[in-house]
Amino acid sequence: MAAQIDGLLGIDPTACRWRPETVAVHGYQGREPRTGAVSYPIYQSATFAHPALNETTGYAYSRCGNPTVLELENTIAQLEGGIKALAFASGLAAVSTVLKSFVAGDHLIVSLDLYGGTYRLFNDVYTRYGVEFSFIDFTDLAAVEQAIRPNTRAFFVETPTNPTMSVVDLRATADLAHAHGALLVVDNTFLTPYFQRPFDHGADLVVYSGTKYLCGHNDVICGFAVIKDAALLERVFMDYMSEGAALAPFEAWLMLRSLKTLGVRLERQQRNALELCRHLKSHPHVTDVHYVGDSDHPQYDVSCRQTTGFGAMISFNVDTPERAHAVLERVELIAFAESLGGCESLVTYPLVQTHGSMPKGLRDRLGIGERFLRLSVGLEDAGDLIADLDHALASPGR
Ligand SMILES: *Cc1c(COP(=O)(O)O)cnc(C)c1O
Repeated sequence: MAAQIDGLLGIDPTACRWRPETVAVHGYQGREPRTGAVSYPIYQSATFAHPALNETTGYAYSRCGNPTVLELENTIAQLEGGIKALAFASGLAAVSTVLKSFVAGDHLIVSLDLYGGTYRLFNDVYTRYGVEFSFIDFTDLAAVEQAIRPNTRAFFVETPTNPTMSVVDLRATADLAHAHGALLVVDNTFLTPYFQRPFDHGADLVVYSGTKYLCGHNDVICGFAVIKDAALLERVFMDYMSEGAALAPFEAWLMLRSLKTLGVRLERQQRNALELCRHLKSHPHVTDVHYVGDSDHPQYDVSCRQTTGFGAMISFNVDTPERAHAVLERVELIAFAESLGGCESLVTYPLVQTHGSMPKGLRDRLGIGERFLRLSVGLEDAGDLIADLDHALASPGR
C-alpha cells in the first residue's frame, strides 16, 4: 500500500539546518513546492486517484495519509527531533493508539498524577483488555523501581504533572526504564517541544494533546504520537492506520497556522504566569501555589536542567472551599472552563472537571481537594488578569 509506505518513511530530523523557532513558523517544507503557496494548502480530499496500476502519487486514502496532515506531522517530528509524528483526532486517540502496542499480561508503570481522561483510559478501558497498570509517583524513583515486574513493558509519565505540577527527572527515569527493558513514554502536552524535548533525555515515545499549547486557540481537538525509531514506527503506524482516528485536513491546516506563533505565545504566557505566581504567593486568601517556574518549587533544579522554560500552568489552594466556589463564579475575564494552553486564560476545578473520574482516595493523596484550583494563563495583560483574580478572591470565603 502506497500510503502505508509513505507514512512509514519518516524524516531525518538531523538534516534540518533551521532552529526550532524557524521550523515552527515555516513548517517542514517551508512553501508548498508546486505552487509556492506560503500557507500550506488544505487537501480536502478523502481519496486520491492512481495514475496507473501499481502507481501512486504517494497518497491513496486520507485515513492513512493526506498531504496537509503529513506536512503537519513532519513539522511536529522535526520540532520534537523524532523520525515521525502521527496526527490524531484527539490527544486521547494518540494515547490509545500507543497503548495498543501492549497486550494482555503486559504491565505499565504510569504517573500517579495523570490527566483525568488518560487515567480513565488506562484504568477503565485498557484494564478490560488485560493490560496492567501501577500508578506511582515518579518523583520517587525508588518507588518506581519497587513497582517493576518481569512483565513491565513501559513507563508512562507526564511532566510537569497535571494538575499538581510535579516534575519528573526524564534522564534518570529513562535510564531506569531501559535497565529493565521497558520503554519511556512522555506526555509533553504542558511544555511542548519549545520548552522540553523528551527524546533529548532518553524518552522513546512522546504523546501530545495538540488541543492545548500546540493549538493555542481553543478551537481544535487534536493529538500526536511522536516516534524516534523505525521499529516502533512500524508497530504504531499499523495501529494508527487500522483504527482510523486520523486528524482531518482542515484541522491540520489550523494546527500548522497555530504552530507559527508557538514560540511567541509560550514566551508571553510564561511571563504572565511568573507574574501571577508571584502575586498569588503573597495573596492572603491563597495558602499554597504550585508553579514549576517558582524557585521554591521542589524540583526547580530538575526543571532548569531538562527544560528551556516553565510553561504557564499554575495550581493553587485557596483558604476555604466556599472561596474556591466563589472564584469560579466571580471571575469575569478568566473563563471557568476545562482545557488549557490557549490565548484565553482559563480556571478549572480539577475535583469535578478534569479529575472527576479519578477515585477519591487517589485525589486525596494528590491533594486535589475542594480548595484546589488550576489556572491556564493566557495572553491577556497580566495586570488585567491579576485584577480579575483579586476581585474573585475578595469574595466572602468564611
Ligand atoms: C487534554 C490532555 C490530554 C487529552 O487530550 P485531548 O486532546 O483532550 O484528547 C492528555 N494529556 C494531557 C496532559 C492533557 O492535558
